[in-house]
Amino acid sequence: MGKIAINIATGSLQKEEIIVGIDLGTTNSLVAIMHPESKKAVALREHNSSSLVPSIIHFTEQGTVVVGDAAKEKLASHPASTIYSVKRLMGKAYNDLQKNKTSYQIIDTNTDSLVRVAIGGKSYNPVELSAEILKELKTRAEHILKMPVAKAVITVPAYFNDTQRQATRDAGKMAGLDVLRIINEPTAACMAYGIGVNNAEPQVVAVYDLGGGTFDVSIVQLQQGIFEVLSTHGNTYLGGDDFDNAIVQYWLTKHPTLQASQELRLWAIEAKKQLSSSTNFEQPFQDVLLQLSIEDFNQLIQPLVNETLQSCQSALTDAGLTIADVNTVLMVGGSTRVPLVKQQVAQFFEKAVNDSVNPDEVVALGAAIQADILAGNTKDVLLLDVTPLSLGIETMGGLMDVLIPRNSKIPTKAGRQYTTSKDGQSGIIISVYQGERDLVQHNRKLAEFTLKGIPAMPAGLPKVEVSFLINADGILQVAAKELRSGVQTQIEVKPQYGITDADVEAMLLSSLENAEADIKARALVEAQTEGEQLLQTTEAFLSKNSGLLTQAELLSTAAAMQALQLSLTMTDKDLIHAKMDELNEISRPFAERVMDVAISTAMKGTKI
Ligand code: ADP
Ligand code: MG
Repeated sequence: MGKIAINIATGSLQKEEIIVGIDLGTTNSLVAIMHPESKKAVALREHNSSSLVPSIIHFTEQGTVVVGDAAKEKLASHPASTIYSVKRLMGKAYNDLQKNKTSYQIIDTNTDSLVRVAIGGKSYNPVELSAEILKELKTRAEHILKMPVAKAVITVPAYFNDTQRQATRDAGKMAGLDVLRIINEPTAACMAYGIGVNNAEPQVVAVYDLGGGTFDVSIVQLQQGIFEVLSTHGNTYLGGDDFDNAIVQYWLTKHPTLQASQELRLWAIEAKKQLSSSTNFEQPFQDVLLQLSIEDFNQLIQPLVNETLQSCQSALTDAGLTIADVNTVLMVGGSTRVPLVKQQVAQFFEKAVNDSVNPDEVVALGAAIQADILAGNTKDVLLLDVTPLSLGIETMGGLMDVLIPRNSKIPTKAGRQYTTSKDGQSGIIISVYQGERDLVQHNRKLAEFTLKGIPAMPAGLPKVEVSFLINADGILQVAAKELRSGVQTQIEVKPQYGITDADVEAMLLSSLENAEADIKARALVEAQTEGEQLLQTTEAFLSKNSGLLTQAELLSTAAAMQALQLSLTMTDKDLIHAKMDELNEISRPFAERVMDVAISTAMKGTKI
């Protein structure tokens, strides 16, 4: 399938490597790739079977592991050794799990480390269990593609925290996959729909994902190829399984002779699926006729659908947006095939929903597109480039503070918080530099602007967020915003403008040649800046509050300040640090008293 290449060094034929996209779902998982000829993302399937692999793992008595449909068949007969919904356990400690009604045993290891699942005499953590699913996916993909698969992009829900993302990465590694990137499921869905690729205008997309056991809705903002999840809301215990349960309960009430069974549940799923394209379901079963009309089904699931709509409202509110701000609504997850779900989501957002891409596959397809971009094949879709030199701003003492390091893939975005160094400072000068040296004087200045109108506050209290955004065309937008007052300003620069390859090379060389001297210079400047700031704050404090101190405290403080002042004129950073420590030691008790007063006064001033 892949293109054939010749390795010039060995003279041998080699197939081009492939990076796959993987949707590791709670209920189903699958692999997709970018088709080398058609240049379209496709889900991998064997012959004409389904692309979906149930995310279920069965441990046989002989100690072997079975994954997918074969494991699903063991759910009813071997509940204790058949594991489902592992994704809900990823990165979780025992105490994190509120609901714990699994047919397999989750054990409390009495630590705050990850939960384990006990099967037979052994126990497994969720990373090991997920790795089994990923191994199966890898093997399948290799079998279908007839080539080794070693690299992957794996999707996770937008609400996954760092621990859960790391757990997913580890599972990939354990399965023998090099996980190049973990991407958000709603982002992948947007990519599969091709949204945001060629839009210059910012777009707001609501991604509604109703799967087997979980529901989440994400509000994603797209701007020049950058995906930002503004908010997410949902319920990790709400999905198609609940629809199935509702149908089973309905039949049990209608037919008192029936008993809950796996077989009855399978018919419930069948009924649900049939009602996606017809209005009535009928099936003889034991001594009764199982029947379900679309009206009755809709009535059964209405409360569940309502709950998802409330989540949509919460997500919008959290993003600070209204329905009118949403440009597009995407349907993701197998359960969005239910007609009532589509209707009601469309009604809620007051616009038609997008459901043209297979909802079971859409996330994996998006992952495959991202994989192809990382492989460097899809250049025309998203312009991925790198920054030739680091970009940053000047901070106290003329130091370069890098926000976007050189060789970062663009488009990219970075932000950092700064504060003022003087009491009552009303403006901050933002100077943007490009280059690799530690002191800005050795780098290239690109732009400078001032954030004005910061309300008077003690030094250190304002929160100034400086953000850098480089779009796919290499245009840098620098914005500064004081978060307490909301004052903001921004500027656009062309960082690459006028720089030749020779310039870049010269700047890199000089940074290498001067690396050691730069590090020393930076350390000294940092120490001097800190020392100066400490002197300023102490001075300001004394001028306002000297009455609060004893004569002895005043004298010892003055002596320590003098010693620090002297050390600043020399070039020994260790001496400066020592003198700062001494002053801090003396002033700490009363400085803390004073800070409290200063902060409460400042709060009154800004009318919070
Ligand atoms: P997950 O993201 O949780 O892994 P999926 O997106 O694969 O889950 O969705 C699985 C759910 O979709 C199951 O509850 C399944 O019964 C349901 N489903 C699949 N096809 C249909 C259909 N035609 N009508 C209704 N529900 C469906
Ligand atoms: Mg899913």
